[in-house]
Amino acid sequence: MNVLIWFRNDLRVADHPALARAADDRVLPLAIVDPAEWADPARSGRQWAFRAECLADLRADLAALGAPLAVRVGDPQTVLSKLCKLHRIGRILCLEDPALAALDLALQAWAAGTGLEFIRLKPGPGAPAALTPLPAVEPGPIPPARALRLAEDRCPHRQPGGRPQGQLLLQSFLDRRGRLYRDGRNRLLQAERASSRLSPHLAAGTLSREEVLAAVAARLAERPDADWVRSLGAFRAALASGATGARGAVCPPAAPEGAAPPEDIWTRMNGRPDTLRMRLAALHAGETGLPFVDAALRAMAASGWLPARLRGMLASVALHHLGLSEQAAGAALAAGLTDHSAPIHWAQMRRVALGRPVDPERLAGALDPEGAFTRRWLPELAEVPDRVLQAPWRWEGARGLLGRRYPEPLVDPSAARAAGRPPARRPSAFTEVMEGAAPRRRASAPAQQLCLDL
Ligand SMILES: Cc1cc2nc3c(=O)[nH]c(=O)nc-3n(C[C@H](O)[C@H](O)[C@H](O)COP(=O)(O)OP(=O)(O)OC[C@H]3O[C@@H](n4cnc5c(N)ncnc54)[C@H](O)[C@@H]3O)c2cc1C
Repeated sequence: MNVLIWFRNDLRVADHPALARAADDRVLPLAIVDPAEWADPARSGRQWAFRAECLADLRADLAALGAPLAVRVGDPQTVLSKLCKLHRIGRILCLEDPALAALDLALQAWAAGTGLEFIRLKPGPGAPAALTPLPAVEPGPIPPARALRLAEDRCPHRQPGGRPQGQLLLQSFLDRRGRLYRDGRNRLLQAERASSRLSPHLAAGTLSREEVLAAVAARLAERPDADWVRSLGAFRAALASGATGARGAVCPPAAPEGAAPPEDIWTRMNGRPDTLRMRLAALHAGETGLPFVDAALRAMAASGWLPARLRGMLASVALHHLGLSEQAAGAALAAGLTDHSAPIHWAQMRRVALGRPVDPERLAGALDPEGAFTRRWLPELAEVPDRVLQAPWRWEGARGLLGRRYPEPLVDPSAARAAGRPPARRPSAFTEVMEGAAPRRRASAPAQQLCLDL
């Protein structure tokens, strides 16, 4: 039979049961790049750059098995329909993916109507030694970011894509870095090394969660010391929350066009669209005037990654202090992350939206007591004394700094805190905010290099 193997967020040849299942068929391995997906404001050039590297690597791996990857740009159903007719495909195989559950339902109905088999397999082991390719399939180019209308997105410390890079990270984590994981992931200057940094690879599927878990089990079987055992236990729990905690979460829908926002404390404090636009632009630029927040924003702009505590803080500040909608705040944050995974991201945004506002000054006291992280990313605060680093507006020398080399705070964090917990759902200002958002400005170069040589 002629079988189309559709690669989505599973860009690997190992641990891919669809490849194993098609070992005796003639196969067409395919990746579809959907411009509508990449037009989503949660998507960005850094994410595409990572993914394009993964696709190139997958193409080489599949070519080594005998059937190189075809890449097509377009709406999935249109692309599938065209290719299935052209190459007399009888079956489409892909892996289950909670992020694509709604699309798969629609495709199942379409496939049933055309007599095609559309089979989604559970992730698991399996990889053939060789594949039989369908003849005369043009591989097609991997499109550049500009073909997807993605803005230029400089991310000097972005993690590189591709399975070998993921394998190297996993190896260095299990050989050395992982020993400090349990506590180190919450210590900002350690977190870059002590966290696994596997998230972009798990999001693109260059590594499967199952193979990472198996590698952890093998490491534990070597009977490492107590630090290792504790850290690997915590790491396993993190992996499990990524697999189960987020099933089905999606970006919340925007308010209907023209819907009038109800009068509550949040709209009174924050609701003017021009104010919201300005705040969103400050979030993109890392210029909110709240030092710990800006340091985190600039670290994210430069590396495409942040530890979970800082992601939670940014989400909380964007939602609770700046009064942005869940969609606008969530998209701004997601676009800065190379590892964007919609189910995990939107579940986390919801959790933060329903939680208590985070106080950035207090969190800085706990996570960055000496201010080293803040100073690394905000060289313009070099002369501010330690005692007021997180609140330079309390510094007697602030006059020559604020509003000149560093912005005045956009909001008074204590006012937002005093307003208490926000309502569970606030009206959306997404449309106005996104349409009118100022062009992105990238943060200036960091004062010190990130330790990305993992
Ligand atoms: C507002 C917000 C948005 C987030 N958006 C994303 C996202 O788009 N993509 C993403 O992969 N993670 C997201 N996370 C979860 C978490 O911050 C990242 O998974 C983690 O920081 C990635 O770094 P790491 O691979 O070194 O993680 P490690 O701590 O080494 O964990 C290993 C893996 O476990 C999973 N994991 C770890 N923590 C969590 C968690 N809290 N929830 C779910 N899975 C977890 C991830 O797959 C991660 O790669 C978000 C968290 C918050 C608070």
